[in-house]
Amino acid sequence: MKLRLRLRVPSKPENGLVREHLGTDSDSDSHQQNIKRRKLDEYRNDVIKLERDWKTHHLLRNKKLILVLDLDLTLMESTAIAKLSSEEKYLLEEAEVVEQGGGKGTLFAYQDKKFPLLVKLRPFVKQFLKAANDMFEMYIYTKANRIYALRVARLLDPDGDYFASRIITRDDERPGCEKKSLDEVVGHENMVLIVDDNRDMWPKHQENLINIHAYRYFSSKSAKDGNFKSFAERKIDESETNGMLARILEGLQRVHRQFFHPELEVNLAHGDVRLILKMIRLKVLAGCVLFFSTSWFMGNPPEEVPFWIMAKELGAMCSLELGTAVTHMVIVDMETKEAKWAEQKKKLLVNPGWIEASYHSCRREPEDNFAVHEAFL
Ligand SMILES: [Mg+2]
Repeated sequence: MKLRLRLRVPSKPENGLVREHLGTDSDSDSHQQNIKRRKLDEYRNDVIKLERDWKTHHLLRNKKLILVLDLDLTLMESTAIAKLSSEEKYLLEEAEVVEQGGGKGTLFAYQDKKFPLLVKLRPFVKQFLKAANDMFEMYIYTKANRIYALRVARLLDPDGDYFASRIITRDDERPGCEKKSLDEVVGHENMVLIVDDNRDMWPKHQENLINIHAYRYFSSKSAKDGNFKSFAERKIDESETNGMLARILEGLQRVHRQFFHPELEVNLAHGDVRLILKMIRLKVLAGCVLFFSTSWFMGNPPEEVPFWIMAKELGAMCSLELGTAVTHMVIVDMETKEAKWAEQKKKLLVNPGWIEASYHSCRREPEDNFAVHEAFL
C-alpha cells in the first residue's frame, strides 16, 4: 500500500523554549509542567518516528539507501589564500574565480574580501556523486559553518541535484554538540552509510562508517614535516580512476547490490547496511595471514594502528611474528631482514595501501599494484 502521509517535523525545542511555551516554573505547578513537557517530548518523538518510517518506506520502494558525506578532507580541501606556500602560488593563476555559483573545473578561488579562499575538489568526486545519487539519498554533514558549507556544496552540486536542502552544519546542531550523529538524518540507521575522514567524529555510528583517508592537497594542513611537499607543491594529485573515492564507490555499489538482492527483497524492512558491510568486509581477506613490521607503528600498540584494525575487519589474521603461515608481508622498506626473509620464502610483499584499498572497495585488490617501493599514500 502506498503511504501518502507527509509530515513536517517540528524543530526540536530547546529546554528554554519549552519553558517559555509552558510558562515559568514555580513550586506549585512544577508537577503539571513536567507532565506537559513529557507529553510534548513524546509527541515530538512520535512525529519524528513517523517521518522516519515514511521516508524509509519511500526510499526502499525506490531502491535507495542513505549516504552521509563529510566535506573537508573527504570530498575536497580548502585553504586560505594567505596560507599558500611560495611553491603553491601558481595555483592562483589556474583557479577558476567564482562568486556564488558553481564551476566546471576542480580548483576554485573565492576572492572574498574577508576570507579569500582556494577550494580543491577531490579527484573523481563529481563522478562519485553522480553514480552514488542513483543508489542513495545523500546528505552533506560538516562541522563547518552554513555559509561555507553552502558555498562548497554549490561547487559540488551546482544544480542542486544531489543534496537539495540536506546539508547539516554546525549551525544546525544543538550548542555544545562536539561529535556527529544521525539525529538530523531522516531515515532509519540501518539504511545509512557514512563516508568521513574523521573516525572519531562518529562514536555512536562506527558500524555505519566508511573511514576515508584524508585528502590533503595544500601544504597548510599537510604533515608538519619540513621535508614534506604537498600535492600542490609537487604538482601531482590523487589518482582519478584508482583513488580513494573510486574505490569507495565500488564498495558502496557492493553493499547496495547486496541490500537489494532479489532473494532478500521480502525482508527489506529488516535489512541492515551495517551487517551487510561487516559481512562483505569479513570475506575480503579471509584466509590471509599478514605479517606487520612494527618499524612504522611509531610505538603505538597494533590494536590502535588503523591498517591493523582494517585488516582484522577484512577477515585477515594479523601477526607480528614471522612463520610459515604468513601469506603477506605488510612493509614499507625492502631493506629490512624481514623483507629479505619474505623474498626468500616467496611471500607476497605489499605496502599498507593494499589494505586500505581493499577496505574501501570491499574486494581483495591485486597485490601487484601495491609493491613496497610504490608510494602508498
Ligand atoms: Mg573531514
